[in-house]
Amino acid sequence: MTQIELQRLRIIALETRKRVMNMVFTGKGGHTGGSLSSVDILVALYFHALRFDPAKPDSPGRDRFIMSKGHSAEGLYCVLSRAGFFPDSWLSEYGRFGSRLFGHPTMGVPGVEMPTGALGHGLPVGVGMALADKRDGAGYRTFVLMGDGEQAEGSVWEAAMAGSNYSLDNLVGIVDYNGLQISGKVDDVMRLSPLAERWAAFGWMVVEIDGNDMGQLLAAFDALPARPGSPTLILARTIKGKGVSYIEGQASWHHKVPTKEQYDLALVELDAQIAVCAAEAAV
Ligand SMILES: [Mg+2]
Repeated sequence: MTQIELQRLRIIALETRKRVMNMVFTGKGGHTGGSLSSVDILVALYFHALRFDPAKPDSPGRDRFIMSKGHSAEGLYCVLSRAGFFPDSWLSEYGRFGSRLFGHPTMGVPGVEMPTGALGHGLPVGVGMALADKRDGAGYRTFVLMGDGEQAEGSVWEAAMAGSNYSLDNLVGIVDYNGLQISGKVDDVMRLSPLAERWAAFGWMVVEIDGNDMGQLLAAFDALPARPGSPTLILARTIKGKGVSYIEGQASWHHKVPTKEQYDLALVELDAQIAVCAAEAAV
C-alpha cells in the first residue's frame, strides 16, 4: 500500500461524505451521524478488501457484506454506487416517490446481501453464510458491520457463540464503536465495557483500531484471518458524524437533515480536507 493509494482512498471517503450530505439534504431525511461514522470502514471494504464484480452481484464466489446497522443506508448506497453496482442517478432520487433506494437497505438494490434495519439480525445471517462457505468450499468471506447500540441485542451474542463454535475464520464482525446511539450515550443505555474482552470471551480474535484511520483499517483487513480457526471481531473506534464539525459527537444528529447553511458549511469543511489529502498525495 503506497502513500498515494492511501490518500486516494481517503479522498474517496471524503467525497463519499459529501455525497451522503447531499443525499440527506436533497432527500430531506437520513441517518447522518451513523453514515458519516462508518464511511471509512465501507470505503476500505469496497475499494480494498472485498472481492466482488459489480457486473455480477450474485456471483457465487463473491465476498459477502451485510450492513447490519441498516439505518446507515445512505453511506452504503453512496459506496455501492461508486463501486459500480448502480448509477449515481439513483442517489439523486433518494427520498422521492418511486425511488429505488429506501431508508433501509432492501434486496432490490444491487449489492445488498440482506435487508436490514431491525438490529441484531446481520450477524446471525452472516454466521449462516460463513457456515455455508465452509461446507461448500466456495472460498468467500463474510463481513458484518454492526452498530455499538446494536450490541445490546441478544441475538448478536447467540451468533457470536455460534461463530466460534463452528470455527468460522471466514467471518469478520466489525463494530462501529462511536459511543452514541439514537437515544444518547451507549453506556448510559446499556453499558458495553469491556466490549473487547466480552468478544474475546466468546472465542473471537479481537482487533482494536481507529475506525476512521484508513491506514489502520487496511492493515486490519490485510491481516485476515487475525487468528486461523477463529472468527475476527474488528472493534473500530469511530466518531459519530466524522468529518463535519457540527455533527461530530452529537447524538442529536442520529437522524437529522441539515439546513441550507449547514449543508453548505459541510461541503466547505469536506472540500478543505480533500485539498489537504490531495496536497499530501502530490508530495
Ligand atoms: Mg453508535
